[in-house]
Amino acid sequence: MKNFSYITLMIISLFFVACSGSSSQKDTQSGLTDSEKPVQDEEISANDGAINVVHLKSDDKMRFDKSEIRVQEGKIVKLTLEHTGEMPKTAMGHNFVLLKQGVVLSDFGNAAIKGEAPDYEFSEELLNDVIAHTKMIGGGESVTIEFQAPPKGEYEFLCTFPGHYGLMKGIFIVE
Ligand code: ZN
Repeated sequence: MKNFSYITLMIISLFFVACSGSSSQKDTQSGLTDSEKPVQDEEISANDGAINVVHLKSDDKMRFDKSEIRVQEGKIVKLTLEHTGEMPKTAMGHNFVLLKQGVVLSDFGNAAIKGEAPDYEFSEELLNDVIAHTKMIGGGESVTIEFQAPPKGEYEFLCTFPGHYGLMKGIFIVE
């Protein structure tokens, strides 16, 4: 049974990979830059399936391409963080960190830089404030994590590389 579920998940994943492949092709043809792109309907419709698929981009300008992420309650979130820039992790590292409700984003951001460069891994204490997070990545890299969507509500996400959370933050909405 376990194997069967795994295979099913694999098939679903492949399906979404195929979908996101076609949507990025469309984006290229539209000629819009990341900041001009409208909200991607393809991603929202993909979220009607068994898992929430989120593709979050980050760049050399210290930006996420989304300030708001919407997912559905009770489903796995499969989130890919992509660094579309060229700068190394030591200079322009990015991660995705989803905070528990009630955690003050600026407090967490200030505490998180005490980790060791360039990965800035979190202490046990900081991990208590986190629902999910990716590792730190540099230009040209991407990382995918899966986690259970938290209960309905609004949560905050950020990048904890030193000095980034002022620009690199947003709202994560579970519907
Ligand atoms: Zn960053």
